[in-house]
Amino acid sequence: MLHLVSELIPQQEAYMRVVVVGAGYAGTIAANRLAKKVKAVEITVINPRPDFVERVRLHEQIAGTGAAATPLTSMLREGITTRLNTVDKISDAEVALGDGSRLEFDYLFLAVGSTVAPLPGTVPVGTWEGAEQARAALAGLSGGRTVTVIGGGLTGIETAAEVAFGRPDLRVRLVGRTIAASLSAGAQKRVRTGLGRLNVEIVTDSVARIDRGAGEGGGDAVRLHSGARFASDLTLWAIIGGVPDLAARSGLEVDADGRAVVDECLRSVNAPRIFVVGDCAAVPGARAACATALPQGAHAADTLARILEGRKPQPYSMGYTGQSLSLGRHDGLLQAGRRDDTLRRLFLAGRTAAVGKERLCRYARSGARTATYAWLKGPK
Ligand SMILES: Cc1cc2nc3c(=O)[nH]c(=O)nc-3n(C[C@H](O)[C@H](O)[C@H](O)COP(=O)(O)OP(=O)(O)OC[C@H]3O[C@@H](n4cnc5c(N)ncnc54)[C@H](O)[C@@H]3O)c2cc1C
Repeated sequence: MLHLVSELIPQQEAYMRVVVVGAGYAGTIAANRLAKKVKAVEITVINPRPDFVERVRLHEQIAGTGAAATPLTSMLREGITTRLNTVDKISDAEVALGDGSRLEFDYLFLAVGSTVAPLPGTVPVGTWEGAEQARAALAGLSGGRTVTVIGGGLTGIETAAEVAFGRPDLRVRLVGRTIAASLSAGAQKRVRTGLGRLNVEIVTDSVARIDRGAGEGGGDAVRLHSGARFASDLTLWAIIGGVPDLAARSGLEVDADGRAVVDECLRSVNAPRIFVVGDCAAVPGARAACATALPQGAHAADTLARILEGRKPQPYSMGYTGQSLSLGRHDGLLQAGRRDDTLRRLFLAGRTAAVGKERLCRYARSGARTATYAWLKGPK
C-alpha cells in the first residue's frame, strides 16, 4: 500500500525525479510535455523495448503494408533518460524493476496501456510481440490458405481488411458476435460493403475454441458457439482484453476492470503523486484509444508543471469528435460523434476517409513526439 505525502507543496526550487512507466502514446507525450515545460526535472522513461510502438498501426505491421515501430530515441526529447526494462511494482516513492534494481521518484506517470487475453491457439494482434508473431506466420502462408480474425470491433475489422488488402491470395474470415457495433447503422453497412470488396467473409457468431491440427491439411479448426466449424491456417485474436495488473499489484485503487481510479486531475485517488493516463486509467466517459491517451498524458504533464510552479491544478476535460478506421490502404471510414462520444448519423467513407485516417495516425505520433496536441473540452 502506498503512503505518499499527498499535498501540493510548491517545489519549483527542488530538482524533481519523475518516472514514466510505459512509452506508448500517453507516456511519451507526458514525458516530452513535462520536459518542455519544466527545466528542474529529471525524467526517466521505463519501457520494455527500444521502440515507440504505434499500436494503431499493428494491423499494418502484420500485413506488411506499414511499419509500427519508431526508435524511442527519435521520439523523446533530449535530456530524458530511457531505461529498457519493466516495472514490477510501485511502492512508496520507488519502483522495482524487472532486473532487480530500484529507482526512486518524486512523481510518477503510470502509462502501461492495455493488454490481451487471447484464446489458446490464436495469435494476438494487440501487442508488439503478438503482431510480430502474426507477421511471420502470415508471411509463411502460401496462397489459398485461410486466415481467421476473431473480433468484430474496429481492431478486428481493420486487421481483416488489412490482411485481405496485403494478401489478396489468402482467404480471410472475420468472426464477431457483432460487427462494427460502435458505429452508426449506416456506417456499419458501409463497413460490410468495404469488407466485401476485399473479399473478407463475415461470420456473425462467437468462437468457442480452437482445435489445433484438426483442420484440413494439418491446419487448425475453429469451433463456433453455434456448433459450426471451419478450417483455419492462422487465427488472429483482435480483441483488447484488459489492463496490466501493475496498478492493482502496487496497491493503487482499481475498478472492476483493474484500471486505476483517478481524481479529476488524473492522479491516483490513494497515491496522489502518481498520475495514471491512457488505457490503464479509469476516467469516467473515456474509451481506450490513442485519441484518449494523448490528451490525458498531456493534461497530466501540465498538471504536474502547475503543481511544481505552485499553481492550482485544473481538472481534466476532453471531448470526442468521432471514430476512424481503415479498410485496407485505399478505403476507410470516419464516423462523426458528439463530445460525449455518442454517435451522429454522419460518416464519410472511401479514399478520402482513408487519407483522413492516415493523417490522424500521423498526427497522433507527431503529438506524442512534439508534445503539441490539441483537443476539445468535454461536454458540460
Ligand atoms: C490494431 C489496433 C488498431 C487501433 N486503432 C486505433 C485507432 O484507430 N484509433 C485509436 O484512437 N485507437 C486505436 N487503437 C487503440 C490504441 O492503440 C490504444 O488505445 C493506445 O495505444 C493506448 O495508448 P497508451 O499510451 O495508453 O498505451 P500503449 O500504447 O499500449 O503503451 C503502453 C506502453 O507501456 C509499456 N508497458 C506495459 N507494461 C509495462 C511495465 N510493467 N513496465 C514498463 N512498461 C510497460 C508497453 O510495452 C507500451 O510500450 C488501436 C489498437 C490496436 C491494437
